[in-house]
Amino acid sequence: MHGVCHCTNCKRRTGSAFGISSYFPKSSVVETSGPTQVYAFHHVAQQHEQTRHFCPTCGTTLFWLVSTLPELIGVAGGCFADQGLPAPTYSLTHAKKEDWLSLPPHWKVYPD
Ligand SMILES: [Zn+2]
Repeated sequence: MHGVCHCTNCKRRTGSAFGISSYFPKSSVVETSGPTQVYAFHHVAQQHEQTRHFCPTCGTTLFWLVSTLPELIGVAGGCFADQGLPAPTYSLTHAKKEDWLSLPPHWKVYPD
């Protein structure tokens, strides 16, 4: 799963108009290393528990775990800045998308 999310949490997490969320099977993650700062909360809009891991040095969101997606790990799309990512395929919490933002019409849209 690779998409953008317009929820308030993602806007605050990224300091931007949306977050890029790339989900992978946990089993495909080769390694995580080093300490992280953790922020755990109940995601009201998505009705799940979420644990976000940040770099304690620079504050970058690195990855997160979602209670309703136990097999997956979410990785912040911006962490792939050097190698880039394919285009996202969906827009989540689309109802909160900024009015000035246009997205490709072929992306799947989830209003909430
Ligand atoms: Zn979000």
